[in-house]
This record gives sequence, C-alpha cells and structure tokens, in this order.
Amino acid sequence: MAIIVQKFGGTSVGSTDRIKNVATRVSRYRAKGDQVVVVVSAMSGVTDNLIKLAKEIMPLPSEREMDMLLATGEQTTIALTAMALHSMNLPAVSLTGAQAGIVTDGVHTKAKIQNITPKEVHKLLDSGNVVIVAGFQGQTQEGQITTLGRGGSDLTAIALAAALKADLCQIYTDVDGVYTADPRLVPSARKLTEVSYDEMLELAGLGAKVMQSRSVEFAKKFGVIFEVRSSLNDNPGTIVKEETTNMEGVVVRGVALDKNQAKVTLAHVPDKPGVAARIFKAIGESAINVDMIVQTASHGTSGATDISFTTDKADLLKARKVLDSIQSEVGFKEIIADEKIGKLSIVGVGMRSHTGVAAKMFETLAEAGVNIDMISTSEIKISVVIDLAKGEQAVKAVHSAFIG
Ligand code: ASP
Ligand code: MG
Repeated sequence: MAIIVQKFGGTSVGSTDRIKNVATRVSRYRAKGDQVVVVVSAMSGVTDNLIKLAKEIMPLPSEREMDMLLATGEQTTIALTAMALHSMNLPAVSLTGAQAGIVTDGVHTKAKIQNITPKEVHKLLDSGNVVIVAGFQGQTQEGQITTLGRGGSDLTAIALAAALKADLCQIYTDVDGVYTADPRLVPSARKLTEVSYDEMLELAGLGAKVMQSRSVEFAKKFGVIFEVRSSLNDNPGTIVKEETTNMEGVVVRGVALDKNQAKVTLAHVPDKPGVAARIFKAIGESAINVDMIVQTASHGTSGATDISFTTDKADLLKARKVLDSIQSEVGFKEIIADEKIGKLSIVGVGMRSHTGVAAKMFETLAEAGVNIDMISTSEIKISVVIDLAKGEQAVKAVHSAFIG
C-alpha cells in the first residue's frame, strides 16, 4: 500500500465544484487501496483578500495577528474538502497544521518548519481515513499559530511527503506542469517533461510562480521527487528531481519574469568600511529577503556611493521603516523606492558548459529596445532588472531567441 501526498492549490479548490472535483480525484486514488494525504491551500483570492482587509485597518499590522488571520483561509478549505469526501461516503478527517504535527520557528508570516511528527496523520490513515491537512500553517513549540510565507502550502506538502516517506508527491495546480516560460505571457512556451531541482528552484524563485521556492529547496535537501500537474485534466505533468547528465544538453531550460520585486536605492552612502554591513544587518534582522545588490563606484569629492538592492514588493514598507531608523546613523542622503521593475531571468544547467549566453541575452534585449538596469549571474542563471512596462515584451523576445 502506497502513501500518496496530493497538494491542491488555490484555483484547484477555488469553488465548491472544484472542491468536489478534488474529492473525486482523491477517491480514484483511494479506490486503488492507497493511503491519501491531501494538502490544500486557501480558495483562490482568499489570502489576498484577508491581507487587504488587514491593510484597511493598518498599513503594517502585527505579524502574529496576520498569521492568526491568514491561517483561517486554509482552515475553511480543509473542512469543505472533508465534507466533499463525506458526501461520497469516504471517511475523511481534516487537520490544521498544528494537529498534523507541524512545528515551526516563531518568525511570523514566514516561519520555517523545524520538525514534523505526523503521529496523528498515520493513526488516521491506518484507520482508513483520507487525511486533509491545512497547507501554509504550523505552530511553534509554544503553541503560537504561524504561516510559512506566501505559497507555503507547497512546503507543507513536500515536508509532509518527506516526513511520511510518501511513495508519491503530486502538486496539483492550474497549469499542466513547468513550462519554458509562463504560457500566459509566451504563447509558444512548452511543457517540460522533467526539470532539475536547481533549475526549478531558480524558476520558482524568479517568479515563474509555479511553486514556492522554499518548498523546492526542501525537496532537494530531502530528495523528495515530485510531480507538478493540473487538477483540471489528466495530463501527465513535470517531474522534478535531481539533475541527470543529459539535462546539460539544453542551454536555457526556461525564461522567467518576476513582477513582484521592488528596487530600493540608498543615495549618497558614505564610502567607508562597515557601512554595507550595517545596512544589510538591519535588513536581515527584520527577516527581509534581499536578492540583487549593486553598489556604484565612489562619486563626488566626499567619497559616496549609491547602493541599490531588490526585495519582494511585500517587504518594501518594512524595508523603508528599517532604513529610516538607521539613516542618520549610517549617513546616507535619501531612500528611493521603485516598484515598477521586473526581473527577467534565463535558467539552465547547460549554461555551465556553454559560453556567450549572457551576450546573446543582452543583444536580444538591445534589439527589443529594453534597457538593463541591474545584472546578476550565477552558474545556471542570468538575471536582469528592467522596466516593468517592458517586461512581457522582453520575456517573449528572450524566449524566442533561446527556446523558439
Ligand atoms: N494561501 C496561501 C497563499 O495564498 C498559501 C498557498 O496558497 O500556498 O499564499
Ligand atoms: Mg498557492
């Protein structure tokens, strides 16, 4: 008897009809005699709406209360999914993250899973139930409700699959798998049969929005092979696993556009030792994720530089607050925030063994009249920050240059 973990994202449970579809799919696996654990997200739009409500009350709400609020989204879906299975005469029990034994640290709104003791899950499975677990949430040792960061239901599913030593982990979403680009932006994008963890990690982290990147990191670390597939049809999806040698034959596996980043520039920062350390220590201590960092050469007679970095749009207000609080101590002149940026990236393990990839990308952008604002590279990725308004045009051009 196999243990199967199936995760259904927001659109897959976006209406009661969709929830009934999920129940039907689950029942098919159950009928084969397998033990099924279902992880669900909040119904689509629900989390966004809860965030909106909170912000109507105050711009920077308490993060503990945000978790209390956001955890309700998934809790609605687990109960409805259990009911949908009951209506088909299948025994099913819903569990919150805490009840499923998911213990996290205390970093509210982006908690990390510390350990999972799925005793209750096993017990319920062994007595014949389908177990439905609320994604995206856990509980600290002290009993505080936490959430795992946006898209965190993916992490719940992967981590549970690891803890349960599941035989199969399926991530059901509203797309057929991982594509060479977002098919909504690039009509010629193709579905990949398989992709390596590292490529997927870059693609997810770069706004290819298929999955939360922390969940892919977790899968890589614990060797959880999983499939990303659609809940709307029966097409096979994309298998995500450790890199194999034949994967290097392709230079660029995918092109991603991240529209969720913002750029912060600190103007006129004193050019002396310890300044960057002071700035990014303060940022880091507030659990703000920084992605690209660029420092200009010293300018003016006073020896000052400009430091720019990118961060999630959602963290921009918090970053501002932190930077405001250290401005006089550090002595920079101004904080300039720009939300109208896009980060465009190409990803492929084949870049390790091919040259001229960056030049081709920059040339393609130049021909499309797209200005490059920041550049960063790694072994398997090249990213550029560009004007958000040119984002979609740029993705199409770069995809057609490398993938066709
Ligand atoms: N409901 C949460 C979100 O929208 C978690 C998830 O969907 O995975 O971010
Ligand atoms: Mg989601």
